[in-house]
Amino acid sequence: MTAVSLGMPRVRPAVPSGAPGDLDPARPATDALVDRYGRVARDLRISITEKCSLRCTYCMPAEGLPAIPREDLLTPDEIGRVVRVAVERLGITDVRFTGGEPLLRNDLADILRVARAAAPSVSLSLTTNAIGLDKRVRGLVDAGLDRVNISLDSVDRAHFARLTRRDRLPDVLAGIRAALDAGLAPVKLNAVLMPETLAGAADLLAWAVEHGCHLRFIEQMPLDADGRWTRDDLVSATDLLAVLGTRFDLLEVGRDDPSAPAEEWLVDGGPQTVGVIASVTRSFCSACDRTRLTAEGTVRSCLFGDDETDLRAILRSADLAEDERDDALARAWQGAMWRKPLAHGSDAPTLAADAFAATTRSMGAIGG
Ligand code: SF4
Repeated sequence: MTAVSLGMPRVRPAVPSGAPGDLDPARPATDALVDRYGRVARDLRISITEKCSLRCTYCMPAEGLPAIPREDLLTPDEIGRVVRVAVERLGITDVRFTGGEPLLRNDLADILRVARAAAPSVSLSLTTNAIGLDKRVRGLVDAGLDRVNISLDSVDRAHFARLTRRDRLPDVLAGIRAALDAGLAPVKLNAVLMPETLAGAADLLAWAVEHGCHLRFIEQMPLDADGRWTRDDLVSATDLLAVLGTRFDLLEVGRDDPSAPAEEWLVDGGPQTVGVIASVTRSFCSACDRTRLTAEGTVRSCLFGDDETDLRAILRSADLAEDERDDALARAWQGAMWRKPLAHGSDAPTLAADAFAATTRSMGAIGG
């Protein structure tokens, strides 16, 4: 099933001032972001822009995504408030900024600074293509950045240019080197598995091992903006391991923790490992601990499906007193996560691992 469809997401309005909120009476009395299946969200992904400097075929259309009006994006102060509520009130322990490409926000350092001030002990990370990171990494670390996940699908320049529709591999590699030099260890590299990437997968792993980066391969999910994904074209974790196994000795070491999506394999006796995220063929939805905020400030409980809850309206509501605003944010977020679907955007108990609810947003518009 192809997931991306046309139209707008269904956005639930903000909880009105003074109302008891829309929390289900069956929901346990806890501040944590629990859902109906007993999962607890602790990992927050915040998209801060729809813009990107690449046009990866599995993520964005060639012409890019429709621009979000600047006034619709959350400001650094609004993001700081959301992070504070998420961490202080709702039990979030990890905050990752995504996009689009977060480095395209000129105020990224400001965003990190307010997030760090709002939540001094939380882990702050970035998912980025690393283009331009070499020029900004010091400032971002000073502002509070702890870690980076860098998207890299190929170390072959021509191949990279075909996959991303941009000839920018040297810029990406400069960004990776800068992240390593800045001490952002472990630098994680994410590669999406596609028929086009399989042949170069072993070269990519060899490069990652040589440069001390932790590589993770991810099965492609139907979140491409062009809606071309088909199950028949899927390159599975099994396909990948067969290819890597012709060049490396791989020993399965499992997951670091049950909610970690990557299964780890020791490479040539270690110490380095390669991660394999089998998001389609071995779904980890039952242990999902993610909650997502779009660049326009709506909560998405799952990558799939289109149920979104508008926090920006609460952040900007003139009807709320300042001391009511945090309560309203927390209550709306709790309600959104309580409705989180069972798997891949659906509550169907017999959901096949490769069936996905339709969504009007592509990966580039949700944030990875
Ligand atoms: S598909 Fe939805 S429930 Fe499954 S892991 Fe992704 S975000 Fe979590």
